[in-house]
Amino acid sequence: MAEINFESISKIYGENIKAVDDFKLTIKDKEFIVLVGPSGCGKSTTLRMVAGLEEISTGKILIDGKVVNNMHPKERDIAMVFQNYALYPHMSVYENMAFGLKMRKFPKKEIDSKVKDVAKILELESVLKRKPRELSGGQRQRVAMGRAMIRSPKVFLMDEPLSNLDAKLRVQMRVEIANLHKRLQTTFIYVTHDQVEAMTLADRIVVMNNGIIQQVGTPNEIYESPRNIFVANFIGTPQINLINGRVTNSYILLENGYQLPVSEESRKELEAYLNKEVTVGIRSEQIELIDKTDKDDSILCKINMIENVGFEKYVYLDFGGVEVISRHIGGVKLDYKILYSLKIDNTKISIFDKETGYSIS
Ligand code: ADP
Repeated sequence: MAEINFESISKIYGENIKAVDDFKLTIKDKEFIVLVGPSGCGKSTTLRMVAGLEEISTGKILIDGKVVNNMHPKERDIAMVFQNYALYPHMSVYENMAFGLKMRKFPKKEIDSKVKDVAKILELESVLKRKPRELSGGQRQRVAMGRAMIRSPKVFLMDEPLSNLDAKLRVQMRVEIANLHKRLQTTFIYVTHDQVEAMTLADRIVVMNNGIIQQVGTPNEIYESPRNIFVANFIGTPQINLINGRVTNSYILLENGYQLPVSEESRKELEAYLNKEVTVGIRSEQIELIDKTDKDDSILCKINMIENVGFEKYVYLDFGGVEVISRHIGGVKLDYKILYSLKIDNTKISIFDKETGYSIS
């Protein structure tokens, strides 16, 4: 059991560097939470405050209802995996994993059985005698996780654990971490700047910027209903298309002159925005390239570039002077010389107040 409560946590370094600002969150037992955001947004600082490696400036952190602000890291029953693995180079894999239990004076037999159990789970049985330098990057990462797992901690903290691995191994280890979480049934807090890792691993994602939580939600909630332009922009590959426009009675007049009809659902919310400026967020899969239509008001598009990523293609379009990206899985033939029409699925678009950046639909 490990529920974690952050009660208005802030961290101020020195005189006035506010690394984390009024962070409020309840993490449920067994939940996989991912803190994501650009470099310097306060993710690691938040994690380190949970671990007890960083003092909390104001607010309280509770683990299972107990305030841990002044509790020594060792007493928190937490294990942390860092991006540089922090293995002891002179010790074997076995000794690295056994070290924590040895320090805690566990009986030799018990240590041996635990090391072997964990090695089996992580498929490290055949390398137990090797030194870290004789391992691949993925194996080293697994030893670091094994060392954390061996004590069966209440909470796992991971700070960019995969960022030193190459792309292929990163995907493989991502799957291993997801399986590990299923198997261990423990609360995980995972820090990354990589939104794909966040989307694929998290039960809930916490998007941060400048020390402030921007949104908390499931990957689908964050992707489909971003609370502000920052979140819309940060999450999703390719990046969301953002086009400014002005609200009229029955459509949004986009900056390129295109009249984007407003869905029934959005109509009510937009009443208050009549004649005001908004920013429309359209995901690439909501834009479909179709054969040219003869409709008077349609703006024709020209292909600027095609990015082939295998199963699908990202098509960069000149949409009346605004560049947009459309996700292409099939349908019309792609040709740089042809002019196309666009079909925009207006039921799933996001509309933001241009001034505040906050969602209004
Ligand atoms: P992230 O993990 O999201 O990259 P950090 O939590 O490491 O961000 O840092 C958040 C902010 O706090 C940054 O502006 C960083 O420069 C600052 N910071 C981090 N550690 C210290 C420190 N020990 N002293 C002063 N400023 C720090």
